[in-house]
Amino acid sequence: MSVTWVLRPEPGPGAEAVVRPVRVGELPADLPAAFLTGTGFSGEVGEVLQLPGTPVTVLLGVGPRDRTDRDAIRAAAAGLARAVGAYRRLAVHPPGPDLRPLVEGYLLGGYRFTRYRSGAAAPTDQLVEVLTPGTPDAARGLFEGRRLAEAVLLARDLVNEPGEALTPTVFADRAVELAAATGLECEVWDGRRIADERLGGLLGVSRGSLEPPRLVKLGYRPDGRADGTAGAARIALVGKGVTFDAGGLSLKPNAQLAGMKADMAGAAAVLGAMSVLDALDCPVAVDAWLPLTENMPNADPIRVGDVLVMRNGTTVEICHADAEGRLIMADALVLAGETGPQAIIDIATLTDAAAIALGRRVAALMGTDDTLVERLRAAGTRAGEPLWPLPLPDAYRPQLSSRIADLVNYTLGTRHGTALLAGHFLREFVPPGIPWAHLDIQGTALADGTDAEWVAGATGFGVRTLAEFLTGHPHPPV
Ligand code: MN
Ligand code: MN
Repeated sequence: MSVTWVLRPEPGPGAEAVVRPVRVGELPADLPAAFLTGTGFSGEVGEVLQLPGTPVTVLLGVGPRDRTDRDAIRAAAAGLARAVGAYRRLAVHPPGPDLRPLVEGYLLGGYRFTRYRSGAAAPTDQLVEVLTPGTPDAARGLFEGRRLAEAVLLARDLVNEPGEALTPTVFADRAVELAAATGLECEVWDGRRIADERLGGLLGVSRGSLEPPRLVKLGYRPDGRADGTAGAARIALVGKGVTFDAGGLSLKPNAQLAGMKADMAGAAAVLGAMSVLDALDCPVAVDAWLPLTENMPNADPIRVGDVLVMRNGTTVEICHADAEGRLIMADALVLAGETGPQAIIDIATLTDAAAIALGRRVAALMGTDDTLVERLRAAGTRAGEPLWPLPLPDAYRPQLSSRIADLVNYTLGTRHGTALLAGHFLREFVPPGIPWAHLDIQGTALADGTDAEWVAGATGFGVRTLAEFLTGHPHPPV
């Protein structure tokens, strides 16, 4: 679906359908009540009923009157998009003054990944007239919703790509293109530079793959602070980019290999969020580090029992080759810390334990700073991406000790608290004194089915939270 949006006070000539929002218990009085009751349409969120005519009347359920949250409007708009995708011209009475969730939900809910379908129809070019006076607030809501949705869809496209198509090299190339198009600084390190920079974790994991690793560094600077220094606030992001995780020598069984092309969803979320900062006038400077590699048992894979030396000199005994994400994240966190940011936020498909604890709709949030954690959680709530805080108990830290090195990458012999142990491991690579938060999106990166703005497959989870947090409403991020 390719949508052009316009604001108009009345439907233009040629609108094929006009959408009317309907609240529960407030069925339109100008339509026959007995007929409406017979259809089963009640106005619950996302219900759609099309009534023949010229133009077609589309009733859109937006829930009870007391549901005024953005989530309800997003969900309703997503259901609408799936029902009316074939119309070329559509006029929509908005359910409320805030157009952002309407546009977001519509574009996210109507998303389909069709690149590999033979015979897929070309997307419909659709004109959507939002029936509201063109006030500055309306125009802004429309613009923000559109740009945020585009950023999420960018991440979804990357995550839905097969691992063979989206190698570390290809991902880095996409980042370069996107940076050029969205006003970001971008630098790509190849395998040799990664070795020169002593990124022992990233280099170690990549040794098992025939595909070379990449480290992508992105920078956003607010207008008027070209160098991003001189007192400008600065936030650092780190996103896990394992473009396919076979488990390395600790090879996964087949059932667990499914979906492992999505192990770069953290990097995709960071790239998506970075792409929208300039358009949304983000007030703070943001740097991002994306370590990109496969985790394969080919080439010269790290052995279980090997010791890697990370960028900050910390030595890590490899007890499980499938706990690779934290190894590449560790190096990137060290790089992020070296620039002295006011906060570091990382996002990764890191542990099954996070998915088991919180399921498919809620991501795990950990960190060292209560204010940062709370602001991220609040940003997630506003953005429609629920996050729930988990602790990092000091009592668990000794489980990372190794007999021969500074740390183990994985604690053998326990299934307990492994999301928290992974969090503890990452924390070791964040300089003391820099507030840090960690998002484990293992459960939320992929959706099993289609519901509200979630479409089966990649979700782009994290893009909206990071963008909401960084653009700083209602609180500046730092
Ligand atoms: Mn793994
Ligand atoms: Mn992984």
